[in-house]
Amino acid sequence: MASGRGSWRSNTTAALVLAAFLAGSALVAPARSLPAPALFRETWIDGTAAGEPETQVQAIDGDTFVIRQSVKTNFEAPFLYLLFGQDRILLVDTGAENGVLRPTVDRVIGEWLAAHHRGQLPLIVAHSHSHGDHIAGDAAFRERPNTTVIGLKPADVASFFGMKNWPQSIAIFDLGGRALSIIPTPGHQAAHIMIYDPRTQILLSGDALYPGRLYVPVNHMDEERASIDRLAAFAATHPIRAALGAHIEMTRTPGRDYVQQALAHPDEHRLELSPGSIGALQNGLKAPLEREWHGQVHDDFIVYPVPPRPQ
Ligand SMILES: [Zn+2]
Repeated sequence: MASGRGSWRSNTTAALVLAAFLAGSALVAPARSLPAPALFRETWIDGTAAGEPETQVQAIDGDTFVIRQSVKTNFEAPFLYLLFGQDRILLVDTGAENGVLRPTVDRVIGEWLAAHHRGQLPLIVAHSHSHGDHIAGDAAFRERPNTTVIGLKPADVASFFGMKNWPQSIAIFDLGGRALSIIPTPGHQAAHIMIYDPRTQILLSGDALYPGRLYVPVNHMDEERASIDRLAAFAATHPIRAALGAHIEMTRTPGRDYVQQALAHPDEHRLELSPGSIGALQNGLKAPLEREWHGQVHDDFIVYPVPPRPQ
């Protein structure tokens, strides 16, 4: 893919400067959104240490856990999310090929149940979307007792969450004292959802928003725009501390990503994206990306139009 990086950003800066001049206002640098708060005590396993474990778990609070699959097992190095309520547990995604995620998930669940003097709780397995690097561990969960694995098609997702009007409906899914919002966001992939947790004020943003390459097939660009417009409307009325996506592909140098399929991520960008990144993505998608076959580079992510794909 031709790169052309940098041109979009400088054009935008020029446009902002021109707009400020025409408005007669003082020339100021475009405001940079505040960084997201740091939510994790440790840095994530990034493939730079010889003996890194195949998975790493970090807690956001006592009921919210993030699991990373080592980049040494699969270059996708996805993040999975495990949320506990009083009545049920939600797992978002099951990992990429060559990952063995279920023992880690079972261990965290076992420790939580023991600490809370609970017996079993039903486990619901949802997916940020249906690409292989997020569903490869499904089989191991399908045979797990007291577990429901949601299907992979938009109709399966809509029916499980009781959405009458995909993708416009936003469903409430209550884990028991923890009512999550399920936000359909097709574009990157047809069954893509985001999940908002009012307790932690965290948005699980999947592959539609993360510090990396946000691939959008050009034949689904309008769906993506509509999805991010709906997301921005949601964000305007719900407090969001940070968006947490499913991968990291950016370095800590603004606008710079790793090479594709990198097997180590030295100096990796944080997982947390600020809520301002939603507006940045929404604005970026206003560009005629169907005719610009290169990545649109932002400090914290790159919007990547890709050739048409069936979904
Ligand atoms: Zn992915």
